[in-house]
Amino acid sequence: MSGKRTDREWRAILTPMEFHVLRERGTERAFTGPFWDNHEPGTYRCAACQTPLFTSSTKYDSGCGWPSFTEALRSDAVTERMDRSHGMVRTEVICRHCEGHLGHVFDDGPPPNGLRYCINGAALKFEPGTPASQDSGTR
Ligand code: FE
Repeated sequence: MSGKRTDREWRAILTPMEFHVLRERGTERAFTGPFWDNHEPGTYRCAACQTPLFTSSTKYDSGCGWPSFTEALRSDAVTERMDRSHGMVRTEVICRHCEGHLGHVFDDGPPPNGLRYCINGAALKFEPGTPASQDSGTR
């Protein structure tokens, strides 16, 4: 499935909230989206293009109200770029395949890599089961 679609096509595929997050770089309110409290084993795919992005094996309870991971499933699954919006300097995380906005990565995560991938649940689809096997080290 091609990652590139027009806004009109994305609107037909995605829910309004998914569209807002993925295509308009929106953020769901903390503790309101899916998966922040999900502890089941499985794989988290991009809600837009279905690419596997994160797994339960690197998910942890950050307490921030969004699904949080210490790293992406594979180093080439996501792209990170500077985001200076809303008067902050943050590192935006996007799906490399479809360029959908996922969330941000912060440096207040747990050891060993100290990263917190803070991802909107609306940008993800959860596939329960044995998680897809993990790259060693996103960075
Ligand atoms: Fe995607």
